Amino acid sequence: MTDSAPKLDDFMPGGRMAAPADGESRKDLVGLTRAELAREMESLGEKRFRADQIFNWIYFRGVTGFEAMTDISRPLRARLEELYRIGRPQVVTAQVSSDGTRKWLLRLADGNEVETVFIPEPGRGTLCISSQVGCTLTCSFCHTGTQAWVRNLTAAEIAGQVLTARDELGEWPTPSDDRQITNVVLMGMGEPLFNYDHVKAAVELCKDEKGLNFSRRRITLSTSGIVPEIRRAGAEMQVMLAISLHAARDELRDELVPVNKRWPIKELLAACRDYPSLSNARRITFEYVMLKGVNDADADARELLRVLEGIPSKINLIPFNPWPGSRYETSEPDRVQRFGEIIRNAGIMATIRRPRGSDIAAACGQLKSESARVPAWKRRGETKDGHAPA
Ligand code: SAH
Ligand code: SF4
Repeated sequence: MTDSAPKLDDFMPGGRMAAPADGESRKDLVGLTRAELAREMESLGEKRFRADQIFNWIYFRGVTGFEAMTDISRPLRARLEELYRIGRPQVVTAQVSSDGTRKWLLRLADGNEVETVFIPEPGRGTLCISSQVGCTLTCSFCHTGTQAWVRNLTAAEIAGQVLTARDELGEWPTPSDDRQITNVVLMGMGEPLFNYDHVKAAVELCKDEKGLNFSRRRITLSTSGIVPEIRRAGAEMQVMLAISLHAARDELRDELVPVNKRWPIKELLAACRDYPSLSNARRITFEYVMLKGVNDADADARELLRVLEGIPSKINLIPFNPWPGSRYETSEPDRVQRFGEIIRNAGIMATIRRPRGSDIAAACGQLKSESARVPAWKRRGETKDGHAPA
């Protein structure tokens, strides 16, 4: 790296540990991993099993107050209530699309808002969660990328989206089978690998068998290609990886996903090749947004096959979801089909993502668009100082 090359921190104004200023002095227990909760309870002079009890109440039973923790003595419950809280993002709006997709606009303790989307399909249900308010990156086809980066979410706020979705779907205690939420994907707003520590803690909470209990094969992290952090994630998180590739040539990818100038395709794919425990059963998903006349020619498909050679891959073709002011058009359905065929004929799995929830702006790349344009108080039908209109 030369001195003038951007460093990781250049993409993270304010640092990766930004926390909300919410005026609440009690510490939030949500977001602490089981080991951290045990240390917290030890600092109060409590034994380890106490932490396990509390962990079970929060992540297995989904309670939001200490009063409900009936296997803990009343005096201790009162003490916990004084010192701690069990935070939840506040649901501002809950929308249901005609195709069953649900989108929640969630308000965080400092007033910032993020969106979480639930996509039910036959046999599975995917919860798409956000990792940042806005995004520092500026992918040219992504609406989130046009909005300013505000801050990183805390581990509590990332895991809190899963807790709130379970509240909303009435899915407590954590079901062992027949779940509505079967998969969690970090594909909402923001670049998860620019919020590494908090994302890692939230992933650990999602994976914990005594709590939310998602297998690591059912958690997918989507990244625009932050090479050093992909390597770290491979060693430390062991989740499924999705790469927002979108182009197989650097010249084009520089334009679509500008972070490519820092970590070009060759370096990115080298990190993918090294990602641990890849196999035919554990492949990397490459996301490829289909932009009419930009990256959707037969030659682009062949180039894609060439660069991915040797990597256990599946390709997810995402028809571009337009947003007001976007400079691209969606590829024609025939073109998407043909592109997919070329890939499949080479023996690589290619799926075409159906746009879900587009009537409620819940599709890929549309998140936060509404809330950024219309202030929250307006959407609630209040006046600016928070009162209902007369
Ligand atoms: N920042 C991460 C994760 C969030 S974006 C990332 O870039 O991977 C989730 C996926 O939606 C990414 O593959 C992204 O490139 C894609 N996407 C963004 N805008 C889109 C749009 N307008 N239409 C279709 N897909 C889009
Ligand atoms: Fe950020 Fe991902 Fe959108 Fe790019 S595609 S601007 S990394 S959210």
